[in-house]
Amino acid sequence: MNHEVSDTMSRKVVTTLNSYKVTILCGLITILVLRGTLPGGSSGLGASDFEVVPKEQLVDTEDTLVGRRITRKLAQVDISGDSTRADEAVVEEEVWDRSKPYSLGPKITKWDEQRVIWNEQNKGKNASRNGKPKMMLVSGSQPGPCANPMGDFYHLKFLKNRVDYARLHGLELFYNMATINKEMNSFWAKLPLLRKLMLSHPEVEWIWWMDSDAIFTDMAFEMPMDKYEGKNLIVHGFHNLLFEQHRWIGLNTGSFLIRNCQWSLDLLDAWAPFGPEGENRVNAGKMLTAKLVDRPVFEADDQSALAYLLLFDDPKWKSQTHLEWEFFLQGYWKYVVYNYENLMAMSHPGFGDDRWPLVTHFVGCKPCQLAVTPEVEECFTQMERAFNFADNQVLDKYGYAHKALASFKTQRIRKDTSDPLGLKDETMPKEHNLADETLDLTFQEREFLRNKERVEQEEALKQKTQP
Ligand code: UDP
Ligand code: MN
Repeated sequence: MNHEVSDTMSRKVVTTLNSYKVTILCGLITILVLRGTLPGGSSGLGASDFEVVPKEQLVDTEDTLVGRRITRKLAQVDISGDSTRADEAVVEEEVWDRSKPYSLGPKITKWDEQRVIWNEQNKGKNASRNGKPKMMLVSGSQPGPCANPMGDFYHLKFLKNRVDYARLHGLELFYNMATINKEMNSFWAKLPLLRKLMLSHPEVEWIWWMDSDAIFTDMAFEMPMDKYEGKNLIVHGFHNLLFEQHRWIGLNTGSFLIRNCQWSLDLLDAWAPFGPEGENRVNAGKMLTAKLVDRPVFEADDQSALAYLLLFDDPKWKSQTHLEWEFFLQGYWKYVVYNYENLMAMSHPGFGDDRWPLVTHFVGCKPCQLAVTPEVEECFTQMERAFNFADNQVLDKYGYAHKALASFKTQRIRKDTSDPLGLKDETMPKEHNLADETLDLTFQEREFLRNKERVEQEEALKQKTQP
């Protein structure tokens, strides 16, 4: 009897619990759906995954509405995608103990010796296609979509430009969109990424970091690596501005090369503590503004922190760094873009300097943000021109060019030929090259002429060989 009562009671309890479960589940689903559909509401992704757009900068044009709809859709996909990982192995994110200095990961020692051994054991892996020490071109952008779809469009175009440059110069290419380290977001994201790549690619000697807002504009220029013997960091900058005047723009970290070695891992260890988001970054920013000339008041950025280390920290940072000023390892876009037509008329690729800039860097443009200001419009106009200026150098080989620097449309600049290598005269001296005069004919007309020529040649041969 007691047993029966307790049985009925426990069934009631189970039923009640089940109905609570259903209610909680429904509530959760409602919250998720609401969060996913509310404009500007949290997307369920980490806040650091998206650039925060001030409300006054949101303009309800059709474009921006489309952009926001895509963002919301992706956020929903991202939420549903999360659950599929539940039963797989996931390593807990390490939580930074704020009583200790911030660190990018376990301390690495004797890295140079380790690389030597590894490369001995893996012979041939550390040479690039052209026989030089392997170099990896690295860039990246935020994991989620840009608030302004135009930003994604230019990220894609600039990535295409890197694919071309890497192919032309035998560089490996890595483009990162994953959050490597939560605390090191925005311009700090490059630090944990560089460390990860160094440790995962002992075969790579040099890593060339390029901001997502920087583009190669001299496709022929090759880095003069022989010049950098004994140096571990190559960064664009000016000796007097940095070392004499202590100016925060004395160097620029939009495009730099760093050697895969112990010195570089140590530099990253010294550099990273300025970066973690929050109070730490804000306070470091105040210190950097106090120490560097003309630096505005804002949170610590990677560029100021590097300038600080070179100026005030261990002298070994300065002694192994090469400040490159002889060519545009990065060139500020406003000094470069208005001169492209002039250069095309007067100069040619291959110089990398003001005669033909290697890299055009759109500092301050923030193409991913949805700020519809005349300055941003100008950024996009000039990004298109820079891309086409570079793309013309790529397309030339294939016989195409952009109609104008401002136009994404292309046109033919050469007729196709039946002798693409220009070798026909050497390999088949007897065959008359019909290519140029037959371009405007139909396929049948060309075939007719070819047959006629063959018959004539055969006739001539017969007459020659006849006794
Ligand atoms: N970045 C990244 N992941 C992110 C956000 C930014 O890799 O989640 C990179 C991106 O390549 C960007 C760089 O950080 O170009 C530095 O930022 P930005 O170019 O906007 O700074 P600026 O050159 O204007 O000072
Ligand atoms: Mn940049």
